[in-house]
Amino acid sequence: MKYIKKKLIIDKVKIEDIARKFNTPTYCYSYAQLKKNISDFKKNFKSFSPLICFAIKSNTNLNLIREIQKFGLGADVVSMGELMMALKAGINPKKIVFSGVGKTSKEISYAIDKKILLINAESKSEINEIDRIAKIKKKKVQIGIRLNPNTDAKTLSQISTGKKENKFGVNEKEFLKLISYCQNSKNINLECLSVHIGSQILDHKPYEKMLNVVDKIIVKTKHKFKFIDIGGGMGISYEKGSKKLNYRKYNIAIKKFLKRHSTKIIFEPGRSIVGDVGYLISKVIYIKENEKKNFIILDAAMNDLMRPALYGANHKTLPSIKRSRISKKTYEFVGPICESTDKFTSLKKFQKLYEKDIVVMCDVGAYGMSLSSNYNLRPKPVELLIKGSKIRVIKKRQKHSDLM
Ligand SMILES: *Cc1c(COP(=O)(O)O)cnc(C)c1O
Repeated sequence: MKYIKKKLIIDKVKIEDIARKFNTPTYCYSYAQLKKNISDFKKNFKSFSPLICFAIKSNTNLNLIREIQKFGLGADVVSMGELMMALKAGINPKKIVFSGVGKTSKEISYAIDKKILLINAESKSEINEIDRIAKIKKKKVQIGIRLNPNTDAKTLSQISTGKKENKFGVNEKEFLKLISYCQNSKNINLECLSVHIGSQILDHKPYEKMLNVVDKIIVKTKHKFKFIDIGGGMGISYEKGSKKLNYRKYNIAIKKFLKRHSTKIIFEPGRSIVGDVGYLISKVIYIKENEKKNFIILDAAMNDLMRPALYGANHKTLPSIKRSRISKKTYEFVGPICESTDKFTSLKKFQKLYEKDIVVMCDVGAYGMSLSSNYNLRPKPVELLIKGSKIRVIKKRQKHSDLM
């Protein structure tokens, strides 16, 4: 994404043209960026060729997942719906792992029928349930157990998952007990230890700590794990010039771990694959100057992009046409929804905006559309895939009639 002759473009397409042709709000994704992210990710960990399972929950668009599948990635799913979507996108079941604290019997049964690589269980009760269903089906099921390593990921508390107060996984003591339970079961094959300590992690040290915890536990169990699934969570830089995760150091830590344990590494990245691939294009409906604050009222709202309302996230916001006039006032960028949390960002010394101007929110490819809703009975935006100068509709805009 860059400005050419003061006009913002993605790959070879002008934002203005997209807005005119497809209306707003509109999500679009850059194929070139997606390709680059996947190839960079593979390069970073080339020496041990991990299985990379894309975390479907970060972006559930069928056509986008199809593109990801073509690069050979598997999937990490957290519901039956996501598992069905991954399979529909052509992902090999032997590259699919199923995570989540509350898998229902129906979901477990479906996963067993589809012969996926691993069901990563998160409690004793869940393992009992997998065992029970596998026995009825007369099948042997490959599972993992998710360990809660009690490691602080040093990220937002809302997206931290690896501390002992979090609901995810089991603690070390329980983990050791569950291993002997699994070893005694005829219908369960314990193949994997899994961990996922959180999201938007920018410091490699929590990962190092987590690997140390995993290392110690494996030694204690004396169990041979075919896979170690170390989850996702790699952070991206949302703000210009902000810190980046040091992949080189993370890679070194994993290689050190692999010297002590010969096993296949699984990753479950979501945000780092699709985060900076997506843009949300929106139009200024009104500009309103109140006594205390000034507002840019957009046609996109928290139902289209919930991260700011949910986590206080801030997305880089750019005008589609660059002008030299700068406004001295501070403007809050808000949506039309009847909630005070329906705001995106607050900017001062932004260029002077006018009603009907187009603005773009960046880095919305992960947890953007997938968290969207129909709140206020607003139809969901269209999704576009940009490949060079070609624009492809990969999901149609919802119509009001779809909602009635
Ligand atoms: C959400 C989630 C991921 C993906 O996290 P990112 O921060 O998007 O990389 C991976 N694994 C599990 C178990 C998750 O819940």
